[in-house]
Amino acid sequence: MSKVHVFNAGPCLLPQVAIDNTIEALKDFSGTGVSLISISHRTKEWDAVMDETRALWKELLHIPDTHEVVFLGGGASLQFLYVAMNFLEKKAAYLDTGVWAHKALVEAQGIGEAYAIACSKDKNYTYVPKGFEIPKDIDYLHITTNNTIYGTEIHEDLDCPVPFIADMSSDIMSRPVDVSKYDLIYGGAQKNVGPAGVIFAIIRKDALGRVSRHIPTMLDYRTHIDKLSMFNTPPVFAIFVMKETLKWLKGLGGVEAMYKINKQKADLLYGEIDRNSLFVGTAAKEDRSLMNVCFVMAPGKEDLQDAFMAFAKERGMVGIKGHRSVGGFRASLYNACPLEDVQALVDCMQEFEKLNK
Ligand SMILES: *Cc1c(COP(=O)(O)O)cnc(C)c1O
Repeated sequence: MSKVHVFNAGPCLLPQVAIDNTIEALKDFSGTGVSLISISHRTKEWDAVMDETRALWKELLHIPDTHEVVFLGGGASLQFLYVAMNFLEKKAAYLDTGVWAHKALVEAQGIGEAYAIACSKDKNYTYVPKGFEIPKDIDYLHITTNNTIYGTEIHEDLDCPVPFIADMSSDIMSRPVDVSKYDLIYGGAQKNVGPAGVIFAIIRKDALGRVSRHIPTMLDYRTHIDKLSMFNTPPVFAIFVMKETLKWLKGLGGVEAMYKINKQKADLLYGEIDRNSLFVGTAAKEDRSLMNVCFVMAPGKEDLQDAFMAFAKERGMVGIKGHRSVGGFRASLYNACPLEDVQALVDCMQEFEKLNK
């Protein structure tokens, strides 16, 4: 097979070393003679994997002792419900910056009173609203730091006067984060830190227990903190691959080093989009995501869209079709996407421009 360049929005590309080590563990997990997917999770060998995974999260994101990290099934979409169950007492505010942010809001509205504090739907979610006032009497403010579908990102950790909750599914571990500013950070692993099948939730422990409702055992974060994510059978395969992915990230120099590379990759591609007469970016410049780069054909060049898609495909580009609600193209530059692949896409755009001047 010829070389492919993978820009899938999720599940994401994962580092080859993580895949190779997983293949070995599928044959023989940790010298036990048993496959990773058949081992008992009540063994010291598995405990060691859980401990190492937790330790890597804490080290890479500098998670303070006030917080604990848990790993669960159900996807980020089920976390929308966890958030409301564990934190919503009277009223919560959501920053509506895209489809995922909106789904999180709607899920909370099934549990109690929740509203959009600001919304960017008026321009098809191509920017992040700013300057909104955060009332002091709400239970929490929920944001989505990276809007995977629209290619916008909140680049800074906001100062929030009320409990602060963030869905970081698609930019976790891509940049440094001040975890102490958040009461909860959660997301699906499959956008940047592992395969589908596991979520992470980083929880400020003393922020729990403030709601009066009965929380079903499995939906109560305290259950999973108490049992170190092993209340029931954990998704062993997904957690193992996540651990291997984080080991790779640590070897590279951690989140700070990764952030520099991610900026380089994004600058390279946005630079080409801005220079190339055939393409334009769709996200507001100051809100451009480092992870998901969205662009369309320039005005008057729309009829070249299918031709560019075919041209790029021939050159090994995979997964650059934009989300159906945006159209055009989207290249996801998650951590494991190498700079060379971004360069290959840029070369492809330049070649296409020469042929279509
Ligand atoms: C993909 C995504 C989700 C949904 O994740 P699932 O694990 O498929 O439920 C939620 N939020 C964001 C920001 C996403 O990118």
